Amino acid sequence: MHFLVHNSNLVTVAVMGMVHAALLFIMWAAGVMPLVQFNLLSVIIYIFCMALCRSGFVMPVFISIIAEVTAYTVISTHYVGLRCGTYCFLFSIVPIIIYFGCFLFKGKKRLIIIALLAMNFAVFAFLYVFFTPMPPVYDVPASLRTTLVLLSAFAMVFATIFYNFMYIYASEGEVNTLERENRKLSVDAKEDALTNLLNRRGFLPLIEPIMKDEEKGHFCIAFCDIDNFKRINDSYGHDGGDEVLRHITALIRREMHGCDICRWGGEEIIILMKDYDLDKAREKAELLRRNIESNPTVFFNKRIFSTITIGLAENKADHREAEELIKVADERMYYGKQHGKNIVVWETLQA
Ligand code: GH3
Ligand code: MG
Ligand code: MG
Repeated sequence: MHFLVHNSNLVTVAVMGMVHAALLFIMWAAGVMPLVQFNLLSVIIYIFCMALCRSGFVMPVFISIIAEVTAYTVISTHYVGLRCGTYCFLFSIVPIIIYFGCFLFKGKKRLIIIALLAMNFAVFAFLYVFFTPMPPVYDVPASLRTTLVLLSAFAMVFATIFYNFMYIYASEGEVNTLERENRKLSVDAKEDALTNLLNRRGFLPLIEPIMKDEEKGHFCIAFCDIDNFKRINDSYGHDGGDEVLRHITALIRREMHGCDICRWGGEEIIILMKDYDLDKAREKAELLRRNIESNPTVFFNKRIFSTITIGLAENKADHREAEELIKVADERMYYGKQHGKNIVVWETLQA
């Protein structure tokens, strides 16, 4: 189906070429030599159109289809009469005019589509009125007449079904693409692109509900800040700094498996430690600190050693807002910065 949608022009001209090849044999069997020649010309036109489609020239193909079908219905009705039903080919190009037309013309130019459809109907009306009283030039045997009617009806039905499916498939494809992009946008809005950690927008809504829930309200917040990160940037460049951030993120993810982790700001990372009391959180944070201290980032064959300072805060009944709790953890982290860095601070101490 994917192939058909993306090559609908090619499929259309290929089917039209095949229909004319079949018509050529029928006309030859009926002895209608002028139409044998015309069908031969039509087959050549459609082979040429296939080459044009492959090169992306849609407009000349569009014009050729309309001109060929219109000329064919007039000439064939003249030779074999209305009873052979070849005028049905006019209806088979209605969906083609609409589908190709909408692709080719935008805005007010789409009036051209209406004009072409009106012309198409006018040709049919003319054929019907003009040829009803006229005897055909050739009297086609009844069996071949039936075959001709069935073939032109097939062309009409095929075009209607094919183009409707094409339209439905293409619009469903577009809806799916839009939904996929929307999902990606909403993930992007909640995630940090460098580390793939949650950003504030993705993180805060996770804390607020558990703060309000009495039973689940038992948790700690760890506020981590990379020490002397500016110096790392100055020594190894911004790319080196980015690599350190990614590396530390990976270490945190591994050590704090099961916790929600957020990139709060530049080199600040917050961890939501659910079901941790302060003692358990202290032990875990200490493990993390040591882990980072002893696992340098490898950047272009260089080992960049880095450390973090962590401020811990436990959720208590008197904390109402997530940001209040985060502020306590931040203040403790700041205390750690002023007292040597690379430490875990879990209580509020005077500077
Ligand atoms: P301290 O130990 O006191 O935390 O010092 P510091 O140098 O880590 O802190 P400071 O706030 O002075 O500098 C933080 C630096 O982090 C400054 C900023 O350019 C850098 N930074 C912030 N975001 C990024 C980032 O995404 N990539 C890189 N490479 N650097 C970043
Ligand atoms: Mg820092
Ligand atoms: Mg900082």
